[in-house]
This record gives sequence, structure tokens and C-alpha cells, in this order.
Amino acid sequence: MTDNQSTTPDLNRYVRQTTYAPLGSDGQRRLAAGAVLICGCGALGATLANLLVRAGVGHVRIVDRDRVDLHNLQRQVLFDEHDAAENRPKAQAAAVHLARINSEVACEPIVDEIHRGNIERLIEGIDVIVDGTDNFPTRFLINDASVKHGVPWVYGGCVGTEGQTMTIVPGQTPCLRCLLPECPDPATLPTCPTHGILGPIAGLIASLEALEAIKLLSGNPEAVSPVLTVVHLWENRLHQVSLAGLRDRADCSCCEHHRFTWLDGQADQSR
Ligand SMILES: [Zn+2]
Repeated sequence: MTDNQSTTPDLNRYVRQTTYAPLGSDGQRRLAAGAVLICGCGALGATLANLLVRAGVGHVRIVDRDRVDLHNLQRQVLFDEHDAAENRPKAQAAAVHLARINSEVACEPIVDEIHRGNIERLIEGIDVIVDGTDNFPTRFLINDASVKHGVPWVYGGCVGTEGQTMTIVPGQTPCLRCLLPECPDPATLPTCPTHGILGPIAGLIASLEALEAIKLLSGNPEAVSPVLTVVHLWENRLHQVSLAGLRDRADCSCCEHHRFTWLDGQADQSR
């Protein structure tokens, strides 16, 4: 980060959010000093990057191995037909668009898959991790790295018109494995290629995730959601599952016993 990014943000461009009392100018300065890792830059990740860069998060590291395809444009809001025609790597295409949106933010695109050999390096210097992935093995790996290094992360996923999100603050809230002790079998889960996805559910889940990251980065951890939020957007239904007491009951191998089986390769990471 340069001094310009970390210490002297142009607060005038953020006046509509600094006017919001819980954020304020102090929160804005904290955002400018903050660093986020965006895991995946598809529908969730593109909206996350868009919102967090516009909000003035100082450093945004984006990791994605894929390239932009025409059928991504229906929901992946950072990309355009030119990116698809050029078949550009999503992380790099995102960084180009994001630099035009807010040049004060340091965007760091990384064209790579997230795996146990690089996840700990990817979270170095990171204050909050946000989930733009599309599979549970990667989420379990992120959860291990988050808990091991004490870096909060915001889980989010969606398919069709349904989605869910939950914030994990290591040592304070249940982790993903308190909720799901075993990784769901990918063969049993619906996916976007098999069941489709509509843009609004990705926009909604990513927006919920982005605000959780903004709360954490701006010095408002008490405002972090204590529930698992589940949205059925086609039926216009939202419900919230309390996580109170889950950590006590779970006897979690990850956050209670610090067995990081996804990081150390003991877990089955076949996809
Ligand atoms: Zn746990």
C-alpha cells in the first residue's frame, strides 16, 4: 500500500457512507488501511470486489483461476463482452475494471487455484477473507487457514435462487465445521452448471458478505451477524438460523481441537 492509499483517502468521495454514523470518517480510514482476500471472482466475487473497492477498502487481493466466458456476463457484474471475446483471466480483467472505478485501492490479481499449498501465503497481511468460491472443499480449506491464523472469513454460497451466508470470527463465533463437521459430498449438491443461477441471488448474497467485511474492517465487530442467513429468493423468503451455543455443542475438531486436516492434507480434497 502507498501512503496515499493507507493514510490519506479522499474522504469526499465516500461522503455518502461516512455520513452513515456507524461508519463515519474513522471507519473510512480503517477501511482504507484494511486488506481483503476475495476467494474466487465469479458471480459472488465480482460483486464483492465491486462493492469493496467502491467502499474504499485499501487492498483487495483477488484469486481466481478461470477466464471470462460469454455465459458469465448474465451475473458476473465486473466483466463485459470485450473481456469474454479476449477470454481474459477473471482476476486480471477484474483488476482493470476496478482500477477505473477506484484508483485509490491497491488491487492485486492472482490467476491461480486456491489449494493447501498456497492458502496460507494468500492470507498473509489479510484482515478479512470473503468467499466467492463454488465448492465446499475450498471452503473447508479456507476455514482451516482462517482458524489457524485468526483471520475472520465470510462464507457465502448460492445456486438457482437460493443462497446462504455466515460470518466466522475465530475464537468468537462458530466456524464452518461447527456447522458442517463433514464436507458435503459434491456429487449430492446442486451446482450452477446443473441447476442454473439467477443474477439477483448472487448479488444479494455477495452484498450481505460485503457488509459483514465492511463491519469487521471499519471497527464494528459487534455488528457482525450472529446467525446463518438462508435466502430463498424465488419465494421471497429469508430465514436466519441462530448459531448461539453451536460452538459449545459442536466439540469442533477445527476450532476447538485445532486439527487442520484440510490444510495438512489429511482430509479428502478430491473434487
Ligand atoms: Zn468450529
